[in-house]
Amino acid sequence: MSAPIRPTVTTTGGAGPLVARLRDSFEAGRTRPASWRRQQLEGLRALLREAEHELVEALRADLGKPATEAMMTDISFVRSEAGMALRELGRWMSPERVPVPLVQRPARARIARQPLGVVLVIAPWNYPVNLLLAPVVGALAAGNCVVAKPSELAPATSAALARLLPRYLDQEAVAVVEGGPEETGALLAQRFDHIFYTGNARVARVVMEAAARHLTPVTLELGGKSPALVDAGADLEVAARRIAWGKLMNAGQTCVAPDYVLVHREARDRLVGALGRAIHRFYGKDPARSPDYARIVNDRHWVRLRHLLEATGARVALGGEGDRPSRYLAPTVLTDVDPDDPVMEEEIFGPILPVLDVEDLAQAASFVASRPSPLALYVFSRSDAGVEQVLQRTSSGSVCINGTVLQLAVPGLPFGGVGESGTGAYHGRSSFETFSHRRSVLAKPVWPDPPLAYPPYTRLRSWILRRALSR
Ligand code: NAD
Repeated sequence: MSAPIRPTVTTTGGAGPLVARLRDSFEAGRTRPASWRRQQLEGLRALLREAEHELVEALRADLGKPATEAMMTDISFVRSEAGMALRELGRWMSPERVPVPLVQRPARARIARQPLGVVLVIAPWNYPVNLLLAPVVGALAAGNCVVAKPSELAPATSAALARLLPRYLDQEAVAVVEGGPEETGALLAQRFDHIFYTGNARVARVVMEAAARHLTPVTLELGGKSPALVDAGADLEVAARRIAWGKLMNAGQTCVAPDYVLVHREARDRLVGALGRAIHRFYGKDPARSPDYARIVNDRHWVRLRHLLEATGARVALGGEGDRPSRYLAPTVLTDVDPDDPVMEEEIFGPILPVLDVEDLAQAASFVASRPSPLALYVFSRSDAGVEQVLQRTSSGSVCINGTVLQLAVPGLPFGGVGESGTGAYHGRSSFETFSHRRSVLAKPVWPDPPLAYPPYTRLRSWILRRALSR
């Protein structure tokens, strides 16, 4: 059972007139001044400050999200992205000087960042504040008009954002459209200047096809099976704590959660023991009673995860319990997992952690390299050479060594996937760049204007030109 599809709230007259209205604002130059961009970023920060409680409650209603997690991963995250954009905006907007080759001198070259126009941001349900508003920060900092489309599967958060954004942001330039596939489809039929989509790869194909009709560039923030590789010599207590934390935050419904573990055969039992201790320390004897453990977003996803557990041929080493009415699924660790097991096919996106044995890090790296590039890769090892070997042999959107998830909270690191896990990146300056056009500008003085480069190409001119151009 998925949540009911909500009506579009701010598209009086439909998607076409809405986008046309925003385009008029853009073309009138409303969003270009740095002062307008600052106002919007300040507005977002005020929203996150003043409506913090409302958003925390909405996240609790949608996902049973613990308040601390809501603050940490949804609200504070966007607040610090907006803060950074405010601090750095002047620098980001400044033209970038570029050297001019000798033969072209005298001249000056620069790259000027220009806003793209009207952009569409489509967000999923798992971090519904963060994944809608963090791209919006970049879009506004870069001076664009924005249509923001929250996920219908987090209906309380979607409604809260639809109510709040128009109160704090310029309604002539920013609109929220609520709804599901139908409303998103109506938006996708319009021409945008950039589409920023976060979600699953199936819908990403729908988005890309729609974008192709207008030759609209896209950023696709997708998922995949992010592995955690654990070496025999790793500190297993620390590795287990960090893997359990990254996996079980938001009950495993995190795009960069470790999806499965590849552990050195000799260390497997010790790692599973340490995982058990970490889970117990985090959530107590019965995680169902812990205020710090979230719920599965809806019945459809709960049933999907139960089916995975029923179909697996692996051994349930920890957890396995569930309660359908409350959408609870226990932190669950599987061992003796066959690489062809159903849990190893698709991204799990829930609190089920398969642990597979390997002979060494090299075998683990080959396993990862033989599968589609994941969004994140985690490696726990004390051996620099071992880690380096894994990095050389594999590809992934990002890497965290001896940790999980935290790479995405370093604003200087672009966050995005590669191949099946996505295209493009954002966070910090990368968000500004994603929503800007890098316009090349070359400025030449009218004097001097030597005849050398013009026809007729006499032998002397050709000789001089060839020499000059081959330098
Ligand atoms: P979802 O079901 O909320 O869908 C995402 C968005 O697509 C929603 O706004 C929804 O309305 C829209 N949508 C759904 N079907 C559509 C259709 N047929 N046509 C047009 N639009 C449609 O979220 P989801 O896809 O279940 O999200 C989970 C996936 O997202 C996982 O694979 C996860 O790894 C990935 N994810 C990636 C990131 C990242 O930053 N890379 C972050 C979070 C989630």
